[in-house]
Amino acid sequence: MKAITVEPEKPGTARFEDIPEPDAREGSVLVEAIAVGVCGTDVEIVEGKYGWAPPGKTRLVLGHESLGRVLDPGPSGGLKKGDLVVGIVRRPDPVPCPNCAVGEWDMCRNGQYTERGIKQIDGYMSEHWRIEPEYAIKVDPSLGILGVLLEPTTVVAKAWEHVLAVGRRAFWEPKTVLVTGAGPIGLLGALLGKQLGLEVHVLDRAETGPKPELVRALGATYHTCSVARVGFEPDVIMDCTGVGQVIAESMLAIGASGVVCLAGIGHGGAVPKIATADVASAAVLKNNVVFGSVNANKRHWYKAAEALARADHSWLGRLITKRERPENFMQALARNSDDIKVVIQFSEV
Ligand SMILES: [Zn+2]
Repeated sequence: MKAITVEPEKPGTARFEDIPEPDAREGSVLVEAIAVGVCGTDVEIVEGKYGWAPPGKTRLVLGHESLGRVLDPGPSGGLKKGDLVVGIVRRPDPVPCPNCAVGEWDMCRNGQYTERGIKQIDGYMSEHWRIEPEYAIKVDPSLGILGVLLEPTTVVAKAWEHVLAVGRRAFWEPKTVLVTGAGPIGLLGALLGKQLGLEVHVLDRAETGPKPELVRALGATYHTCSVARVGFEPDVIMDCTGVGQVIAESMLAIGASGVVCLAGIGHGGAVPKIATADVASAAVLKNNVVFGSVNANKRHWYKAAEALARADHSWLGRLITKRERPENFMQALARNSDDIKVVIQFSEV
């Protein structure tokens, strides 16, 4: 079968090539790939900056935002041939740490977890893949290709769950959220904010392209100014940029007893011209919480699947701005600024 593979830590080694069919030991459920979403992590792996091959191998099958059709459900009772499924990305560490032991592998304490398409387990960018039935999440068939948005939705399902859990440390009635960054994670975070009944604001640099209209179509307000100038004090800020200046301004702009959730990963960049002591004083005097959130466990996968099924499917469809064939995977990785979610399509839904 054909697959998109890469030799981790070596730039320029990605290729579309023939590899053996997936081994039965990888899971009793056999799946035909429909589509795989591309994100910044895939780009980093292809650039040789991230990623680990499976033990004993030099190459890794790329891809962690999956969607496939069950070809053979195996002996598991919960799936049948033709079901649309998405594969969970992370597997608990083998020790296991206390969090992995209770199924909260997203909160792994020792970093020895593994991840499909990223860390020591082959990913989903192959014509066929296998999965353990307990890690296959069935998606509403009406979603079709939109099921490929499930993995990024799990990231914000977890982030929102934790925002609300943090907020409940005291009496709290959040009304407004500012999402910074209108990429796929930011827009899906905004969608979940609307589903929670909040007044949603989204801030991004883009003044043209699909982002402003997608935000308005959600019934939310779009801003292109700096966080310091949005003109209100949000109860929640969800940062999906990872940009230092945006984060520092968010920590000052958040309302009293508000929660800043950091969901973006940045590297370097300009040092914000805001002193740490000033940011800390603002947090102290307003009882603010700033926390980070990554990955998702099975509870969030379930919640995300429910959220997607409930969402306006035509709005979700506009998030997928480009579809490429697997042999053109390098074009899929070279995203332009108007792209939101690019997917590599292996077969028709
Ligand atoms: Zn762990």
